[in-house]
Amino acid sequence: MIHLIDTHAHFTSPALHEQLEAVIERSQQAGIGEWVTVGTDMEDNRAVARLCQQIENLHGMVGIHPHDAKMFRPADAAEIKQIAQAEKIVAIGEIGLDYHYDYSPRPVQRSVFEAQVGLAEEMNLPVVVHSREAFEDCLAVLDAWPQAAGRTLFHSFSGGRKEAQQVLDRGFYLSFSGVVTFKNAPNIQEAARYVSADRMLLETDCPFLSPAPHRGVKPNEPAFMVHTAEKIAQLRDVTIEDVAYFTADNSRTFFRLKNHLVGGDV
Ligand SMILES: [Zn+2]
Ligand SMILES: [Zn+2]
Repeated sequence: MIHLIDTHAHFTSPALHEQLEAVIERSQQAGIGEWVTVGTDMEDNRAVARLCQQIENLHGMVGIHPHDAKMFRPADAAEIKQIAQAEKIVAIGEIGLDYHYDYSPRPVQRSVFEAQVGLAEEMNLPVVVHSREAFEDCLAVLDAWPQAAGRTLFHSFSGGRKEAQQVLDRGFYLSFSGVVTFKNAPNIQEAARYVSADRMLLETDCPFLSPAPHRGVKPNEPAFMVHTAEKIAQLRDVTIEDVAYFTADNSRTFFRLKNHLVGGDV
């Protein structure tokens, strides 16, 4: 039996939340018995905190997504800090820059990203970065943070080998989603082949981004992450057990997870 950790799931999204018990059961049967659920706005952050109290082996991260940066109010920073004091809240995220959709003005995205990096610093927590068509600007914000090394994760990594190297050179981590299984993602596959084994994590980003052979299936769910792990094993010419071992180990290190995996022997 393999043990994988889904480091980026949106369990509070209605598509998953309304059938969460069944989703979790299928996940556990597939060997994924531990998850990090992600908040994207203040209402969602509160929901993440509540859900983490209810479900064993569920951790959370809280923050304002770049899409929602324009909604950020100074009082939110204080509330995020308060929520993030809970033991099961393990990171500030997802935060960053999204220049693909531009749902919030770029200068606002940037200042809200910087403010939340500051919060992570104050709270001594790692950050989970959402970067879409904004890689250089994300790096610029992170390069201004002296403690970024070892505490920064680029989620659903979508760059190639060159971008991966820039991330690794800074001491950051990166996580691969189902996108790595897509036929039209040779760059991401190349990155997954060469990234050092001690810096890579796995995620679903469910309910989005179902991996092949479930591509296009909605919602995506953690049980499907086995296919992502299989693809990475194939790309690296190792076993899925190897991939499970090093990605789970990296997840524990990065998020400082307590060692209490269901049936845990990792
Ligand atoms: Zn994201
Ligand atoms: Zn996400």
